[in-house]
Amino acid sequence: MIPFPVILSSPSGGGKTTIARALLNQRRDVGYSVSCTTRQPREGEVDGVDYFFLTPDEFALAADRGEFAEWAVVHGQRYGTLKREVERVLSSGRHVIMDIDVQGARQLADAFPSSALIFLVPPSAEVLVARLRNRRSEGPEALIRRLETAVEELKAVSMYHYMVTNDRLDVAVARVSSIIDAEAVSRGRRDQSAEAEVGALIEQLQLEIRKQQEIG
Ligand code: ADP
Ligand code: 5GP
Repeated sequence: MIPFPVILSSPSGGGKTTIARALLNQRRDVGYSVSCTTRQPREGEVDGVDYFFLTPDEFALAADRGEFAEWAVVHGQRYGTLKREVERVLSSGRHVIMDIDVQGARQLADAFPSSALIFLVPPSAEVLVARLRNRRSEGPEALIRRLETAVEELKAVSMYHYMVTNDRLDVAVARVSSIIDAEAVSRGRRDQSAEAEVGALIEQLQLEIRKQQEIG
């Protein structure tokens, strides 16, 4: 199995973090790429687990050094995926789940063409606002800013390979999990390893033919 990046995007409050966490709990073959951000930690968020929380200067330095596979300004803050985080997970043989915005998804899909791009949508605008309000992570102004960005982000849906409605959480998690399973055995991906697999089979078959000839 050749591991690949699984990119989750959605409007803020669409359920990326919740679904990524559920998948990490359910599956041993996935890992998470911890992103960098210049935004402040929310209550309960841990540096190095939820994000690497950097100052704007630290972020700029990492960008200058070429440490990011992609980065973007989202809701007025900088967010970026470290190349070494993606490689850390992929080299451990696990698919790498990434919770990134649409600008970052575009850049990452260029850098890693084997990425599976999944867009999560809320069942309705009303539900999205209710979930964001319930999360209590933003004040009224930041909330409006996130909703305005949501309108732009929804327009990018055609760039994604899959769209999953996050109505009931267990159903949405199961859908994303099925997508990972189907992608892992899709012909396009198998083509990469097909020659090696078939090569081994051909050698075994030739041995079998010789055995059969000796018996015969
Ligand atoms: P994102 O990471 O996309 O911004 P979150 O995962 O933080 O979104 O989800 C936003 C809020 O909605 C959180 O409080 C989360 O617990 C809640 N939530 C996510 N998915 C569902 C769901 N299917 N049903 C009910 N609440 C949900
Ligand atoms: P939040 O502040 O709610 O954690 O995330 C805000 C937005 O930033 C979300 O759309 C999220 O997907 C995006 N984001 C988080 N990490 C990254 C990243 O590494 N790169 C990019 N481009 N966007 C990210």
